[in-house]
Amino acid sequence: MTEENMIYIEHSKNKKKIPPNNQLGFGTHFTDHMFMMNYSVEEGWHQAKIMPYQPLTLDPASKVFHYGQAIFEGLKAYRAPDGRILLFRPQENIDRMNRSNERMSIPKLDTDVVLNALKQLIKLDENWIPTAPGMSLYIRPFVIATQAVLGVAPSEEYKFIIIMSPVGAYYGDRINPIKIFVESQYVRAVEGGVGEAKAAGNYGATFKSQKLAKEQGYSQVMWLDGIQHKYVEEVGSMNVFFNMNGTIVTPALSGSILAGITRNSVIQLLTHWGLPVEERKISINEIYESGHVSEAFGTGTAVVIAPIGEMYWNGQTLLIAEGSLGALTQKVYDTLTGIQNGAIEDLFGWTMQVN
Ligand SMILES: *Cc1c(COP(=O)(O)O)cnc(C)c1O
Repeated sequence: MTEENMIYIEHSKNKKKIPPNNQLGFGTHFTDHMFMMNYSVEEGWHQAKIMPYQPLTLDPASKVFHYGQAIFEGLKAYRAPDGRILLFRPQENIDRMNRSNERMSIPKLDTDVVLNALKQLIKLDENWIPTAPGMSLYIRPFVIATQAVLGVAPSEEYKFIIIMSPVGAYYGDRINPIKIFVESQYVRAVEGGVGEAKAAGNYGATFKSQKLAKEQGYSQVMWLDGIQHKYVEEVGSMNVFFNMNGTIVTPALSGSILAGITRNSVIQLLTHWGLPVEERKISINEIYESGHVSEAFGTGTAVVIAPIGEMYWNGQTLLIAEGSLGALTQKVYDTLTGIQNGAIEDLFGWTMQVN
């Protein structure tokens, strides 16, 4: 029996109407089907199934509701101009999901099973992949602890689910730089904690800062290290890069920073172009005092590249690239999105064809 046969498929009888491109937003509409697989101690991961997208019925005592034992991933499928369906470095997402699982005491998932589930689900709902520029199908795999026992201990039952959402172009005609608020009161993660896992609770914990920043006119929060509130870690759910006198600097993975796949891809691209890249500690003082940050940008699957035009920290405003879009930032954005959507040749072997 091939892997493909192992997924039972229940087809949706009521196909939804796919919303027009201009109404997509981010993660608001979902495709016709979802993938689900259960875990029990006796059977391991079993019952792989693709079914119509539908609500879950869970026991209110399920551990996920009480102890937040849950992790997630985020990746995208693109429709190339020649009709190919491309995933961007899905193996990296699966590897990272298993690192998150390990940290959260969730049983490991089999790479081939997950990859096969992704491919089959995408092929089944392929008409949901938007074709307009900048658009893609956002894929959200996640694991939740479902054992209905209140004991504060790892669950003995889980569900692994994949849902998919067509997402609109993040940017309109032009890429607009964002204004960020450097957070010096609240922290996202500390070394030894779960910051390097895509653990669900990490995100709920940031909503308060995010809300306060928004109220003051900033769209994202820049996180500093959890101990000294001194070293730059990330921006919102993005890794961050600074162009300092032609050297591109990004915080080293310290244990509290999420190892972004976009971050890794940008480092490889810059290195390929012969530009000096440094992964090291960067203090917020260095950024404010150096006077030579000519560009800064965030990286992450959802936005790909988000240029930073302005920062606010302890009463001081710092304008970067005069609040506009730097040339290197634009080049990184164009190249990476070009590789992802199949418009530019993929010299790195990053894309995986699904169809
Ligand atoms: C997901 C995420 C990123 C970006 O990772 P990508 O793999 O590039 O999408 C960065 N920081 C945090 C906190 C994240 O959750």
